[in-house]
Amino acid sequence: MEIKPLTENVSYIPGRTNVGVIKCGGSDVILVDTGIDSGSGKRILRFLENKKLKPVAVVNTHFHTDHCGGNKILKEEVGVKVYASSVAATVIRYPFINPFSLFSGVYPVKDLMNKFVMAESSNVDVEIEEGEIKIGDAVIKIVPLPGHAPGQIGVVADDIFFCGDAVFAPEVIEKVVIPFNVDIKTEKETLNFLKNTAFSLYVPSHGEPVENIEFYVLENLRQIERIKGMIFGFLEKEASSEEIVDFVLKEIGLKVKAVHHYFLIHAGILAYLSYLYNEGLISLKIENRPLWKRR
Ligand SMILES: [Zn+2]
Repeated sequence: MEIKPLTENVSYIPGRTNVGVIKCGGSDVILVDTGIDSGSGKRILRFLENKKLKPVAVVNTHFHTDHCGGNKILKEEVGVKVYASSVAATVIRYPFINPFSLFSGVYPVKDLMNKFVMAESSNVDVEIEEGEIKIGDAVIKIVPLPGHAPGQIGVVADDIFFCGDAVFAPEVIEKVVIPFNVDIKTEKETLNFLKNTAFSLYVPSHGEPVENIEFYVLENLRQIERIKGMIFGFLEKEASSEEIVDFVLKEIGLKVKAVHHYFLIHAGILAYLSYLYNEGLISLKIENRPLWKRR
């Protein structure tokens, strides 16, 4: 583990999920996200203790487990105050909502109740959607970034923008192929919003920070259009949701074996179907199964 300084008061710990570290007076720091589980929370805490830094607050960009899984241990060990949007707060408090919603709103198979889908429950102390907040000596700005997840927020400190999963670094897109977005229309709006901002540095939660966000934004938009085009092309003939998932996975050469991975991909593709349908580009009819077709 290492800490990379970005400005006098702002640093980040690079990792599977990048963690923002913002000084807020003396040795006190605010963290942006906490990693996937108690193990990651503990590692972050021990590492910061060695650097004589003490987390006093956490801002969760959104409720996905790799962003809030370390909250519980940080609360137990040092009593951090947790900030999140109201939607994120609901899932952080009741993490069962996540596997429950991925499994069509019924009690899910136990394979979905793992650390990739269901974080350990922790309380959120302050619900915040946007605007400036003062924590200790630091003034940070909360910016709404919905699309990847409902209620996602970004954090600005010293002109550094921690932008959660609103934008993925190109090397991450290459790995995941289908970037997970629950609301394609809103995600596109968020990407276009990001493109028109001019912060000195952008730190996505996954991948390398970047000064010029436009490049990242265009890569993300391009991949969204690619997946959308793939599905739209296939729907020249009628197909069920599962046939569409199967087609996309074959097309991009992804072999999915894990239960949670399948359900995340399945949800990610349903997001394209609802987007295309709501835009009036495809039709939906039910014949004992949902059948989608190009209009
Ligand atoms: Zn996420």
